[in-house]
Amino acid sequence: MKVQEVLNDLKRRFPNESEYHQAVTEVLESIEEVYNQHPEFDKAGLIERLCIPDRIFSFRVTWVDDKGKVQVNMGYRIQHNNVIGPYKGGIRFHSSVNLSILKFLAFEQTFKNSLTTLPMGGGKGGSDFSPRGKSSAEIMRFCQAFILELWRHIGPDTDVPAGDIGVGGREVAYMYGMYKKLAKENTGTFTGKGIEFGGSLIRPEATGYGNIYFLLEMLKTGKIDIKGKKCLVSGSGNVAQYTCEKLIELGAIPVTLSDSDGYIYDPEGITREKLDFVMDLKNIQRGRIREYAEHYGCKYVPGGRVWTEKGDIALPSATQNELNGDDAKILVANGCIAVSEGANMPSTPEAIEVFQHAKILYAPGKAANAGGVATSGLEMTQNSMRLGWTREEVDEKLKRIMSDIHRQCIRYGTEPDGYINYVKGANIAGFMKVAKAMMAQGIL
Ligand code: NDP
Repeated sequence: MKVQEVLNDLKRRFPNESEYHQAVTEVLESIEEVYNQHPEFDKAGLIERLCIPDRIFSFRVTWVDDKGKVQVNMGYRIQHNNVIGPYKGGIRFHSSVNLSILKFLAFEQTFKNSLTTLPMGGGKGGSDFSPRGKSSAEIMRFCQAFILELWRHIGPDTDVPAGDIGVGGREVAYMYGMYKKLAKENTGTFTGKGIEFGGSLIRPEATGYGNIYFLLEMLKTGKIDIKGKKCLVSGSGNVAQYTCEKLIELGAIPVTLSDSDGYIYDPEGITREKLDFVMDLKNIQRGRIREYAEHYGCKYVPGGRVWTEKGDIALPSATQNELNGDDAKILVANGCIAVSEGANMPSTPEAIEVFQHAKILYAPGKAANAGGVATSGLEMTQNSMRLGWTREEVDEKLKRIMSDIHRQCIRYGTEPDGYINYVKGANIAGFMKVAKAMMAQGIL
């Protein structure tokens, strides 16, 4: 494989898909050496096949807003690769959603799901619908209209969606309700469902908790205690909230949160009580993070990024490319010792370079945030068994999976000087399993 040739070809065929090019570049550069040790991969056109999704559905979503006006959005589902299991990946509702973003997410998801050790292929979907400022009735009508089209392409053994940005428990429930009505079955073709109708305990917490379990494994390699460490967390949605919850439980001190309008800095630390306020503000009132600063009298920086504050550990948990090279330089200069990604591809390639050059602990989202989809996999297992596990059982399995992913990263990513290159480790480990399965199943 000649990385540059494959990339040039992708850029020529799919121009204007910068996020997709970015995700593919990172994986190809990491796996190049291993790939070239297997001439049979090249002969089978493995990488060319892996860079193009199995199929893409795009469709119009028509719905009526509260004023009676007809609204039209785009809906998509990318079924990227199902060689190790049914397509699996979240649905994102955000005004920025386009094919480039969903293709990068589905591509990443394929390797992430492979890392979880569970039998899940990779997919992703979404819409350019923005839930911001919409009433609950509008959200419901939109979700139903979205599923009216998508339902025919998904199923418990073909493609199992979940949540992502803008899609939480409320939206999953509306979509699942509509899906059941159309498909006339009750087999759990969605994860992140409510606990009363087939959801798994710990699923809402899983991405944030899993990220901290992964962080603990990384810290262990340097014999570093998390207790008392100041943590910079971005975002204030699902992932950010449960990241804070686990940090607080372990005695670490989260000091920041953000949303797309700005960030708060609370030097005293976000306590359990303050986190409850955030959960109510974001999940029930659907307000802005600025209101935290107003309520607790701390600093609010409109339009700013949390990385300019001083912290020991950075946990990006909002969105892609939210942490650039300059942010990374500030973090390192301020003594940051570890970065663990709750979001997907939050660090730009320049930022990753800064972290790796400084040889600080750095975990890409593919490894560190895999606890979310892993627990979705556990939800699928429970649905198939028609049984539910306890909180402790699911949490124990989640911990084991995160530690297993960490082990795979060490195996494939340890460099001659002992530094663990988690990007390389995660990409090679995720890729090798998919590659072997593709080789075994023939040219398809
Ligand atoms: P939520 O919608 O619950 O929260 C997203 C948060 O990020 C909000 O605070 C939102 O602010 C902020 N945000 C979103 N887009 C932007 C933007 N363009 N600029 C600045 N801030 C932004 O989503 P999740 O917490 O579920 O997802 C966060 C990240 O974690 C995403 O990258 C997602 O792909 C990833 N992830 C999520 C998993 C899950 O299980 N939910 C699993 C694995 C990864 P605002 O409210 O203003 O939009």
